[in-house]
Amino acid sequence: MFAARAARGAPAMLETAYLNAVVWTGSREAPRASAFGTIGARIAAVGDAARIRALCGKATRIVDLDGAFVMPSFIDNHTHFLRASFMLGTPELRTARTRQEFIERIGRAARDLRQGQWLQGGNWDEQMWGGELPTRAWIDAVTPDTPVALVRLDQHLMLLNTLALKLAGVTRDTPDPEGGLILKDERGEPNGLLKDKAKALVQRVIPAPSDAEIDEAIARGAAYALSKGVTQVHVTELDWTTHHSLRRLRARNATGIRFYSFVPIEDWRELDRLVRAEGRGDDWVRWGGVKGLIDGSLGSRTALFQDGYADDPHNHGLYRTPRERLREMIFGADAANLHVTIHAIGDAGNDQVLDMFEASVARNGARDRRFRIEHAQHLLREDIPRFARQNVIASMQPYHAIDDGRWAGKPLGERRLHGAWAIRSLLDAGARVTFGSDWPVAPLDPLLAIDAAVLRRTIDGAHPDGWTPEQRIDVEEALTAYTAANAYAGFQEDRLGLIAPGRLADVVVLDTDLTTCELAKIRAAKILSTMIDGKTGFAEGL
Ligand SMILES: [Zn+2]
Repeated sequence: MFAARAARGAPAMLETAYLNAVVWTGSREAPRASAFGTIGARIAAVGDAARIRALCGKATRIVDLDGAFVMPSFIDNHTHFLRASFMLGTPELRTARTRQEFIERIGRAARDLRQGQWLQGGNWDEQMWGGELPTRAWIDAVTPDTPVALVRLDQHLMLLNTLALKLAGVTRDTPDPEGGLILKDERGEPNGLLKDKAKALVQRVIPAPSDAEIDEAIARGAAYALSKGVTQVHVTELDWTTHHSLRRLRARNATGIRFYSFVPIEDWRELDRLVRAEGRGDDWVRWGGVKGLIDGSLGSRTALFQDGYADDPHNHGLYRTPRERLREMIFGADAANLHVTIHAIGDAGNDQVLDMFEASVARNGARDRRFRIEHAQHLLREDIPRFARQNVIASMQPYHAIDDGRWAGKPLGERRLHGAWAIRSLLDAGARVTFGSDWPVAPLDPLLAIDAAVLRRTIDGAHPDGWTPEQRIDVEEALTAYTAANAYAGFQEDRLGLIAPGRLADVVVLDTDLTTCELAKIRAAKILSTMIDGKTGFAEGL
C-alpha cells in the first residue's frame, strides 16, 4: 500500500513525525535533514519541518527531538554474539579493588541467576586488594543457592563456594589430581581454591547451558546492543548454537535486534539444504552465509605472512584450514549460491583468499555474490586494488588497530606497517569497507571503533597523533562503513542503512553531532535512544 502511494508522490499521513533534529541520512544525494516521519516499521518521509508537518494529520504523534543528532542505527559486521552475551551475565571482578567489592559483585551476579544456575567467569585478581587469596568463606553468605566457579585472571586458580565443592564431590579426602592442587584450610578442609588440573573436578559437573539459558543470554546481548545504538549484528560463530537459538527467538518474535547468522563453511551442504527447504529467513533473522578461516591471529603468531615474523623470522604462520580443502569448500558453497566470507589476517592469508575468490568466480560464473574477507587485517600493497576490482568486501574491525597497534610493530616490522588495517588505502582504491567490533574480543560500542578509525590513537596513549596516521579516515566514511556498507554486505541495501523513504526505521539518536564535533569527543557521545522497526528499542533513562 505504501509503495503504491509513494509512487504517486503523496505518502499517507504520518504515524509519527520527528521534528527539530540534526539528521545525517547516510545518503549521498541528500545527506542532511531536520525532520522525518514514519508509518509502521518504515520511514515515510525525510526533509525539513515544513515538509514533514504537511504530512501530519490529527492522529500523527509528534516527537520533538530537541536538536539531537539522528542517523541510521549501527550494523556490526562481526560478532561472537553468544559468547559475548554470556560474558555480560558474569560478574566484572577484574576491577574489584577491595575484598568487600569482590564479595558484593559476586552476590549481585548470583541474585540475577535462576536458582541452581552456575555462576562462572570472573577474572579476579587478588593483587587489587593487597594479595590475600579469596576462599569459599568469603562468598558463601552471598551465594547460598548458587554454585560458584570463578577463575583468576590467569585461569590457573578457580574459586568455588561450598555448594560447588559439594556438587563436585570434593572433600578433605579427595586426592590432588595429577598436575593439580586442592587448597586446604588449617583444619584440612578444602578452602574453595582449585589449582590447574584440579579445576577439572568441577568443570565436569557444570552442565552445558540449556536452550533457555542460551536464549536468555542472547536476549540480554540484544538489549545491550540497542543501548549502544546497534540494531543488527552479523554473527560469525564457529558452530550452529547461536543459529538455533535465533530461530527459537524469532518464532517467539523476541530477537530484540536483527541478526545475520553465518554458519561454518564446513557445513555448507547442510546450509544449502536449509536454504532450499526454508529460504533465507527474514529481516530479523537471516541466514545463507558461511564463514571459514584460512589463518589464525597476529598476537599468537599464527596469521599467514609471505615473509617471516619480524620477531620470529622462520615463522610464517599457520593454516587453520588446509588450503586445498578451503578452496574446495569455497567453490562448493559459492556454486550453491551461498554467501561466503573468510577470516584472513596475514598478508599471505588475504592474498590466497583473494586468489580463491577469483578462481571461484572463474569457475562458477558471474553473479552478485559479495564475497567478504573478515578482518582483512594485513595486506600486500598489490592486493589493495584487488578488493575493488574483485568486489570483495573488506569486513574490518578498527578497534583492533588501536588495541593491537600497541605491539603490532614487533611481529610486522616497519616495512609491513603500510598494509596494517589499511582502511584509507582500501577506500582510496575504491573498495567497499565495512565496520564492526569482533565483540567480545573488542567492545561492541561502535563509537569506540569510529574513534579508532578516525584518530588511530592506540589505547595506551602512546600515539597522540595516531599510530599509522596515514590510514585515518573521515567520520562520514566511518559512519557509512557502520551503516549502509554493512546493509550492502548483508544484501539489505534496499531496506536498511539509510534514513530515506521506504527504508526500515532503524535509527539512533545521539546527544552529539558526530559529523561536526571535535573528533576526540565522538567516543563520549551519548546514545539517547535507539529505534528499530519504527519502535523504541532503547531510551536513555528508561
Ligand atoms: Zn572474530
